[in-house]
Formats: sequence, C-alpha cells, structure tokens
Amino acid sequence: MTWLYQYILLADWPKYRAEGWVNIGKMRPSGWASPNHSSLIIRKKVAAKKRDRREYKAAYRIKNKEQIKKYEASYRIKNSEAIKKRKAAYRAKNVKRERERSAAYAAANKEQTKKRYASWKAKNIEHVKELNAAYRLAHPEVKRRDSHNRRAQKKNNGGRISTDLFSKLFLFQRGKCAICKTCLKKAGYHYDHIITLSRGGENKDSNIQLACPKCNLKKRNKDPIKFMQEMGLLL
Ligand SMILES: [Zn+2]
Repeated sequence: MTWLYQYILLADWPKYRAEGWVNIGKMRPSGWASPNHSSLIIRKKVAAKKRDRREYKAAYRIKNKEQIKKYEASYRIKNSEAIKKRKAAYRAKNVKRERERSAAYAAANKEQTKKRYASWKAKNIEHVKELNAAYRLAHPEVKRRDSHNRRAQKKNNGGRISTDLFSKLFLFQRGKCAICKTCLKKAGYHYDHIITLSRGGENKDSNIQLACPKCNLKKRNKDPIKFMQEMGLLL
C-alpha cells in the first residue's frame, strides 16, 4: 500500500483534501490518508471517547451540583492549610502577573474594592496603624512634608485658636465627642476643624469642635455635612 501514498503526495493534493483525505504526517512521515484509513479511524474513536467522557462529566456535575458543592466545601476546610500554601507559592512565583491581575480587578471594581478595603481596615486598624507608623518612620521626609503643609495651611487660612478654647468647648459639649457623643475623658480628644483646613476652613475657635480621636481620624478631610450623613447623624 505504501506506494499509493507516494502517488497521492505527488498528485493534486487540494483535490484529495476536498474529498476528506487527511495529512497524517505525524504518524506517517509525508503521508496522506483516505478518510477511512485505520489510524484516522482510531484517532476519531479516541476523540469521540474523550468527548463522551467530557459530556458525561458535565452532565454529572449538573445533576449532582449540590453534592459536589458540599464536597468541595468540606475539601477546602480539610485542606485549607495546603491550599493556602499552594496559593502563596503560586503568588510568590507569579508576583508580577498577580499584581497586574489585582490592579486590573481593582480598576474594574472600584466601589467594591473600596468597600472591601474599608472593612478590612476597620478589622485590622491596629495593623494599619503599625504599617503607617513604620512607613512614616522609614520616610521622615513624608512626616516633615505633612506637618509643614499643615502649618502652611493654617497660616494660609488664617485664624488663631484661643488658649481657653478647650475648657469652653468641653463645657459646651458636656464632655462628649461632637460627633459620636462618646465620653472625651475616656476616649481622649482632638481639635477637629469643622470645615477642614484642606477645604479652606479657618483655624479659629468657631471652626473647632472637640472630637474623639476615632471620629477625627475617620473624618480626615471630608466635607463635614457629608461625613455626618455617612455616620447616619444628620439627615
Ligand atoms: Zn467620636
């Protein structure tokens, strides 16, 4: 039969291809075979078997969805350490790719990412504080720049706080945080610029209230009305 292939090779091959003849070069160096060549039939049978298997598996997964879900959940719990290790190893190996992937995800899901970070931050506030402190310690120029900016802003916006403001406000606010009403004796206090310096608020008595550190730090440079609304306090 070998000679037959030789002839076909030499012949007008596009015509044979149109008839369903297939190049089986991998199995047969320089060979063309008719559609019912034995090796092709075997190949097709194997492919069909694979396809059947795939289809069977897909159907099985659909039919037993709940069971599989349960199994996978229990697997994850049982093997959580191993999974963690595997994921960490993958991330370590693909640092750049993972970074790009998460950046792309964050860009596509801005609001969600913001919320998730906020809730993570709330749960890990001590850790965040440590990180920030470490960062500022490692970058004294940042700390210097920030305090310089703040001084410049106070100067720019004008105003001066009177020395007895604390005792006045403490009385006026009955010793409570102006925002969350927590006891300032327990929580400590910050001078809170009602309209923040960054929004052009003046550094004067009428723009200051006493707030607990938590509220003051939470407010940062937000608009006062928006912030109170966020806290659910002013509608
Ligand atoms: Zn407060």
